[in-house]
Amino acid sequence: MEKICVAVRLRPAVNEEFANGNGFHWKVEDNRISLHKSRGTPISGVSFAFDHVFDQDCCNSRVYELLIKDIIHAAVEGFNGTAFAYGQTSSGKTFTMNGSENDPGIIHRAVKDIFTEIEMTPDREFLVRVSYMEIYNEDINDLFAVENQKLQIHESLERGVFVAGLREEIVNSAEQVIDLIQLGEVNRHFGETNMNVRSSRSHTVFRMVIESKGKDNNANNSSSSHDAIRVSVLNLVDLAGSERIAKTGAGGVRLKEGKHINKSLMVLGNVINKLIDGAKQRGHIPYRDCKLTRILQPALGGNAKTSIICTVAPEEVHLEETKGTLHFASRAKRITNCVQVNEILTDAALLKRQKLEIEELRLKLQGSHAEVLEQEILKLRNDMLKYELEREKLAMELEEERRSHKERDQCIRKQQIKIDNLSNQNVGKGSLGEESNDSHSICQEDAFSTPCFKAVPNAFVFKRSQFSRQPDCSPLPDTYNDFADEDTWMKMNKGYVADLDALNMTPARKVQSFPSVDDFSAENNNQEMLNLHRQLQLLTEERDELKMNHTEQVTLNNQLTKEISELQQEALLIQEVPRALFESVTNCKDVYKDIFSVLQDFVADERSATAEILSTTTEIGLSFFSTLEAHFLMAMDGQRSHVKNYSIQEQCTMLRKRLNSTISSLILSDSPNIKDERLKDFPNSSKHKGTLGEEIASWKRKLEDEVKTIKQKYQNLESELVVNNKILEVSENKYHSLEREFNLLKAERDDLLERVSNSSQMLAQFRDQKENFLQDLNAEVQRRKKLEEEIKQFSVAFASRQRSIMSFQSDFKSVLENLKAQNPVSASKSLGS
Ligand code: ADP
Ligand code: MG
Repeated sequence: MEKICVAVRLRPAVNEEFANGNGFHWKVEDNRISLHKSRGTPISGVSFAFDHVFDQDCCNSRVYELLIKDIIHAAVEGFNGTAFAYGQTSSGKTFTMNGSENDPGIIHRAVKDIFTEIEMTPDREFLVRVSYMEIYNEDINDLFAVENQKLQIHESLERGVFVAGLREEIVNSAEQVIDLIQLGEVNRHFGETNMNVRSSRSHTVFRMVIESKGKDNNANNSSSSHDAIRVSVLNLVDLAGSERIAKTGAGGVRLKEGKHINKSLMVLGNVINKLIDGAKQRGHIPYRDCKLTRILQPALGGNAKTSIICTVAPEEVHLEETKGTLHFASRAKRITNCVQVNEILTDAALLKRQKLEIEELRLKLQGSHAEVLEQEILKLRNDMLKYELEREKLAMELEEERRSHKERDQCIRKQQIKIDNLSNQNVGKGSLGEESNDSHSICQEDAFSTPCFKAVPNAFVFKRSQFSRQPDCSPLPDTYNDFADEDTWMKMNKGYVADLDALNMTPARKVQSFPSVDDFSAENNNQEMLNLHRQLQLLTEERDELKMNHTEQVTLNNQLTKEISELQQEALLIQEVPRALFESVTNCKDVYKDIFSVLQDFVADERSATAEILSTTTEIGLSFFSTLEAHFLMAMDGQRSHVKNYSIQEQCTMLRKRLNSTISSLILSDSPNIKDERLKDFPNSSKHKGTLGEEIASWKRKLEDEVKTIKQKYQNLESELVVNNKILEVSENKYHSLEREFNLLKAERDDLLERVSNSSQMLAQFRDQKENFLQDLNAEVQRRKKLEEEIKQFSVAFASRQRSIMSFQSDFKSVLENLKAQNPVSASKSLGS
């Protein structure tokens, strides 16, 4: 267990007079900072001690040496390390992390030291990669690649918590890293008009991942200790300003930014406070409440050596912020981390995954110059890393896509249920007059309001301290609903744990209830409502019909698919028939051959007539069988019979003729040669002489019968083949037509699906229109009421004016009467003139 190292750094005053002017000043002695009155008397209770306190004259190199160097050394040895700067805007965070030209900051010094240490560790092989990100308004943006915006945090067993899609660069020199950081800074300001505003309102995390492995001196030694790879992560974080919103008088975009900063810094405070409580009673630590704490999780109470530099401003005007920062720092001091070297044996280490490829390349380039070799290796490593990151990003995107698809589906289903409910309600209501009154507000609320999951507690959300009484300095309560007030801000620094869940609420959307309208405008409204209602009904009907069609199509589709698969099986079976026939023909051929070879064995003289007949018959039979085989083979290959149909018959006739001629030549021949042979074949020839003609004739008959039977068999087989081919053709046609039908249905189904989605879109539009209309209607009613009010006021004023004119007239008349009575002549004169 190791305590977090906490230091405070007081920056030089911008204006010395202003800093020490009339009231208080901060005094730094050893590792203590305390508030003093101008005359030097310390103010009790405002004195804090830390691991280090750096005064205004302290330079970055000292801060680095005392606070960060150990972390860097440990990171090279395989320990995770984190350093972050906390404090209000302009207190010196960026100056501490990035430094100036004359006094480089922590990041530059750390990068330089890492490579020096690596050089001083020749017995280990290192792989260093860097990334640079910004958390702005709770979005993680890649500072190495402007196109990588709004990245997501993921967690895996192998990699722990990581930012998916963040570009990492493999580096082998400090200069290379510094160039990359400069590029990151340029990207950070990309599109920003006021870079200081942005920089004080975003957190930046510069990250180095250092992998190392003992060098394998003996190539054959593959003991397991050589496989262990140390992986350490070093985070150098420049946090956004921690000042109060009320003080800056922020509004608009800056207010929004402020909310996010406040929220993430508050979550950071919460985590720290919980970690301290946790030392006593380990409870849930809310790391997941914001991206900053999620990324810094290992650095806070986990496996990391951590240093926090709290920067403060000396000016009296910043007194409250400075006190807040010091309170935060004293809380952080009490966190303990559990630090250990990260040794891994799995493929999670990039070094291990890349080893083989690098070795291959090393062998290939052995002849080259060492520098070229190193460059090539670096390039290859970066390419491989990019490829891996790209793959990872794609996988994430795919997952995201799947999720959003699912969500969309759910949303559509919900919308449909809502529409169903709505139309049911409307149908149930019958009278539209009722609808426009109280029932309408219920209906609207169901359909359009954001559900309120949790009531916003009164505890602090709208409560404001005396600090923010003036309306100019603080936003109005209704725009103030997702971050805590200043009391909370102050309390947070002192260890109060805010219920941030409550701050995150999306408040229920207020929908004005529909005003009761009268006279002619009410009639108009009712008419409009009626129209809208009718449209809704029509759309609902259309949608239902489409749904029904779709279901029918789906059933038909399934049925067709089933039929097609059955037909496919049948076709397969039919295709098997020619093969079976081919096999049986081959068997017959073999048997036939065997029989004839046995018969031929019985014939002593090869040149005898019997031998001649036998060989001719064998030849005929074999040629038959070969023709059949050829036919079946072609049928098996799915070809049409190319051998002309008559060729078999021709062959048959030809062979029969040949047989006949052989036989007749044998019978008719008077040649002694043949006779001798015949006598030789038949040793008791004298006995058989008279019957030779009969015998030959019977052979001839037999052979003819046999030929006939073979021919018959062949014809049978051929007709069977023709039938099979026909069946095959028919089923093929059927298959194709079914396939066509299937495709048509598929297209139809797609079309229907599109129509369904179009009509849901139309419904959505219609709903929007309806909402707009209601809003317009509300406005119109309000306007009319106002007008009526004005007319009433005007008529009252007019009536009173009339009354006063009348009274004036009567007064005037009575005065005239009096005058007449008193002086009739002059009065009549004056009247006459
Ligand atoms: P922050 O990042 O906290 O908003 P800056 O680091 O930008 O603050 O510091 C604000 C101004 O103060 C800068 O002009 C910076 O150069 C200067 N400054 C901050 N700290 C020091 C320091 N210790 N020594 C000299 N100048 C400093
Ligand atoms: Mg800054």
